[in-house]
Amino acid sequence: MFIDTRTVEQNSVIETTVCIIGAGVAGITLALEMSRAGVDTCVLESGGFGPDDETRDLYRGENAGLPYTFADGSRSRYFGGSSNCWGGWCRPLDPWDFDKRDWIAHSGWPFGLDELAPYYARTHELLKLGPQNFDPAYWEREIGRPDVRRLPLGTGHMRDTVAQFSPPLRFGKVYREELSRSARVRVFLYANVLNIDADAQGTSISRVRVGTITERKMSVNAKIFVLATGGIENARLLLASNNVQAAGLGNANDLVGRYFMDHPRMMSGKVRFRPGTPRNKLYDIKYHYQNAAVSAHGTKISSQFAPNPEWMARERLLNSRVWLYSRWYGEGSAGSEALIRFKEALMQKDQPGRNVRADIATMAAHPLDTVGFGLTRLLQWPALITGVTLQAIVEAVPDPDSRVTLSAEKRDRFGMPRVKVEWRLGDQVQRTFDKTFALLAQELQLAGVADVELDAPLEGRSWPTKLEGTWHHMGTTRMHDSPREGVVDRDCKVHGMSNLYIGGSSVFPTVGANFPTITIAALSLRLAGHLVRQLDLPDIVGNLRLEAANSSSMSIQVQPQVETLPIAASALTTLMKEQ
Ligand SMILES: Cc1cc2nc3c(=O)[nH]c(=O)nc-3n(C[C@H](O)[C@H](O)[C@H](O)COP(=O)(O)OP(=O)(O)OC[C@H]3O[C@@H](n4cnc5c(N)ncnc54)[C@H](O)[C@@H]3O)c2cc1C
Repeated sequence: MFIDTRTVEQNSVIETTVCIIGAGVAGITLALEMSRAGVDTCVLESGGFGPDDETRDLYRGENAGLPYTFADGSRSRYFGGSSNCWGGWCRPLDPWDFDKRDWIAHSGWPFGLDELAPYYARTHELLKLGPQNFDPAYWEREIGRPDVRRLPLGTGHMRDTVAQFSPPLRFGKVYREELSRSARVRVFLYANVLNIDADAQGTSISRVRVGTITERKMSVNAKIFVLATGGIENARLLLASNNVQAAGLGNANDLVGRYFMDHPRMMSGKVRFRPGTPRNKLYDIKYHYQNAAVSAHGTKISSQFAPNPEWMARERLLNSRVWLYSRWYGEGSAGSEALIRFKEALMQKDQPGRNVRADIATMAAHPLDTVGFGLTRLLQWPALITGVTLQAIVEAVPDPDSRVTLSAEKRDRFGMPRVKVEWRLGDQVQRTFDKTFALLAQELQLAGVADVELDAPLEGRSWPTKLEGTWHHMGTTRMHDSPREGVVDRDCKVHGMSNLYIGGSSVFPTVGANFPTITIAALSLRLAGHLVRQLDLPDIVGNLRLEAANSSSMSIQVQPQVETLPIAASALTTLMKEQ
């Protein structure tokens, strides 16, 4: 059921069992699981069913570190969260991303890939992905096209990997109907959580306070609260909820907001294919969204090159991914940018300040660039590709000084301090970019495919303006068994608090070089199972056992240790097959 909070009675008090704050990938996944388990649940979502400027403004803040955009275009603040604008790239973390690596300070998770494997398996249905197979040989065989061929890799230091694309799934659209039919879940729209109230001892949460832009007030009491407002906002809400603990909730050891990470993204070099080398679309990012995309059985995929774990250990490097990037005719021009914005407007993507008339005028003023760019995107004529470069993303280092704090001066319309983001990246990231680009250049040369003229190395220089993030906000409430080193424990429960949990990528202690959302979804499924077990509601458990006995398709694992073992085993086998 959906409720417009602007219409509830002033100062209403809502009672529920589980209160989920935020309806993005994490919040909606949890809500679906609670609904299927029959748990009485409230979801509090800041926005409505579409973007609006006043709500979007609540995400704006100060940037104090590297040039970085973290509000408009980088996060969507309405039902579905940033799944309203994500690209859909999915690949689980690598097994070594969970390890403590002695050359990466603060690295490692409290558990390994095997713990998440059964939940990764279930994300394929949730995110509408293809078969749970990330083996490049499988996809090359199934696609079976001469322009999609794996390259031989000769150095022994690099492998190729596969990412699958979700359609990309807009959670707010796809799961709206199921939630609106749910007898157990109430989704409050336009419900901005303004404060999470702890009891006098600061060890449990008694309620959350909610306000609407129309100045309606409400509060929600629950047994369990889950904060799922995204990697930046999770930290902001904890820090701003400081009426009992002055440093904010869960912040006894000054960790909330620290270790902020995004995947830094860079391009480098000019790739010159050797004469007679046919165009290979497997590794070129530009061929994955188009009509003739690289796909099999209805699933689009792309392949990236990745360093082998032994080489990373020997060179003391971070994880990374690197691929080819064709530049289309007209790319980056005023006309092509207007065309992209125009298309996003047609697709109702969440972008502020859009001016369709001005974009049409710009396109008309630059017909060659606009039409040339549009045709190249559509038809992929090799003659209209002006060049090919390398693009990479690198694992960010968990750095306590890279952090999200509260602005000392600026406040939003509710009086809540605006967020201040300070994104930092060190030498190890630069060295990993340099070595990764150089290794792929060597591989292409050895394979007889291309020569690459690389840009000047990054290490030891200040970051160039072409450095970008990837809209992945992670690490600000990191997971660790010790409260001295983490904000949440291995069950995503805030250390020292009995009933406050966190969903989303803010709990990632290390982030690897794969996109985060599939791992957010897997962690949310795992958290849902944990919550249901914590609640230990006999009627629910009984119902689910009956359901599980009557049906082979399980909606939630009441006893994951028993029922998910076969899935876990097959998931792990598939994930390991490619290593
Ligand atoms: C342009 C773009 C492309 C991306 N592409 C990819 C990709 O290809 N692959 C990938 O893995 N990831 C991608 N991402 C990242 C991905 O979108 C996020 O990892 C994911 O959506 C995060 O989900 P979440 O539920 O944790 O948070 P969010 O999606 O941020 O959801 C948080 C929700 O909380 C609500 N909220 C916030 N504050 C409050 C409050 N105070 N009270 C109540 N509600 C609140 C928000 O309105 C929102 O609905 C991309 C992101 C962007 C912006």
